[in-house]
Amino acid sequence: MVHFTCDLCGKDLSAPGEGRYVVKIEAYPGFDPTEIKEDDLDDDPMEAVAQILQRDEAALLSEDLSEPLHKGFRFDLCPSCHRKFLKDPLGKDAIRSFDFSKN
Ligand SMILES: [Zn+2]
Repeated sequence: MVHFTCDLCGKDLSAPGEGRYVVKIEAYPGFDPTEIKEDDLDDDPMEAVAQILQRDEAALLSEDLSEPLHKGFRFDLCPSCHRKFLKDPLGKDAIRSFDFSKN
């Protein structure tokens, strides 16, 4: 039997009747418009953009194992942690309260 615990509070989620929520987060480099150089715009601007997008895709596909460009996270959450996550997916409240406690 697969054993699940909440990744936030550690609650046992394998008991029957316990709700379990899965959160998946993906992080990867976005397209940076500042990469468009004036030289690129000399001929066909649309083609230049297409070339840059291709370059971006190639960068995503080339996997450097020491520092993966594309990173996925998967978390199992209990119903109450899931609710908290939906309210504040990036944990901004937690970061803010941490800053206050330093004063
Ligand atoms: Zn929890």
